[in-house]
Amino acid sequence: MNYTTIMHDNEVKQNIFKCSRCGLCQGVCPVFEEIKNENSTARGKLMQIWGLKNGDLKLNRKILQSLDLCLNCEKCKLNCPSGVDTTGVFCSEKKLGTFGKIITSDFVFKLKMSALKAFSLLKKKPKYAKNSKILYFEGCIAKELKNKFEIKGVKIQNGNFLCCALPYLTKGRLDIYEKYARYNEKIIESADLVVFDCATCLSAVKNYPFKNPKNKEKLVFYTDFYKKFNLQSKENLKVTFHMPCHLESAGKSLGEIEEILSSIKNVNYVRLNNPQACCGFGGDFFIRHPKIAFSLSLKKGLDIIKSNADIALTSCPTCLWSLNFSLFMCKLLYRYKKIPKVLNMAEFLNRCEIIAKNQQPSIIKASKEEKELVKV
Ligand code: SF4
Ligand code: SF4
Repeated sequence: MNYTTIMHDNEVKQNIFKCSRCGLCQGVCPVFEEIKNENSTARGKLMQIWGLKNGDLKLNRKILQSLDLCLNCEKCKLNCPSGVDTTGVFCSEKKLGTFGKIITSDFVFKLKMSALKAFSLLKKKPKYAKNSKILYFEGCIAKELKNKFEIKGVKIQNGNFLCCALPYLTKGRLDIYEKYARYNEKIIESADLVVFDCATCLSAVKNYPFKNPKNKEKLVFYTDFYKKFNLQSKENLKVTFHMPCHLESAGKSLGEIEEILSSIKNVNYVRLNNPQACCGFGGDFFIRHPKIAFSLSLKKGLDIIKSNADIALTSCPTCLWSLNFSLFMCKLLYRYKKIPKVLNMAEFLNRCEIIAKNQQPSIIKASKEEKELVKV
């Protein structure tokens, strides 16, 4: 797997040289799927950046628009046979000035966070354990919505991390990105494990240019804990799962998630048509390109309804919004009487009962205190 780091000009050029122009990124790009314009694909963007760098192209509105048409889903990077760090190039280039005229302020991000605050004004801040070496990386959205994150039988302390800094990285604010990454790494250094419930935060932190590479091994997703348990749902339920793009870029597979969901007693897991298709809401893309985001989101909503599931699960706060929005719109536009509920998979698993401890050895190797902390 490639890790997004802050690239210098020659690294950007090396990455562009690596592109064999095979076009495989076209087939996986959700934006291309909607607008069928080669300039919006990773290959198209790389070629335009190259043209700007060597003076063959002059920056104009059309080029800026196509460079801005990106969900940062990283599907192009994950599927590139030549190992081009496509999104790394895009983020680095924003810093170097090629994208200079694209709005790079964090205004939209701050606006989104203020709106979230208003939703949870009356809610109390959740309490977490003290003195645990398993730290929770609370993402900005969970923090603003004051959502409590729990794993059955595991003591978790809130690590009080700063934002994962992906919103700054994708806006080319590498100065802030680097500052936050350094701060967060210091906290990671003090922990045995750092557990995430947001796919985007996990993917972003895994991509940090770590000073101590061992710190990366401490990063786990909450599903890693549940591989140790046999679970049972209190009621018979049909569930489905939307795979967030960043869960894949964080190194988690759909198979892993399906294995957990399929093993829960009283749960009938059904695979969504195209479970890995982007929901269209990446970051502030839905504000900048509402037409494309709406179209992708609606397709996702219809796929969920066709699955006939009682509950649609996912593991990214932005995807949770998107699924709720798309199902609401499907109900409104197509007059569906019954739509599935949308739920964070972490919450769903925590509601299940543990009926046995799995015989498989724990995949969580880094925690010294694990045996004392996990009580079944
Ligand atoms: S998949 Fe990779 S090598 Fe192929 S065109 Fe896209 S960026 Fe270039
Ligand atoms: S990150 Fe996603 S949206 Fe952006 S160019 Fe790559 S595949 Fe397309």
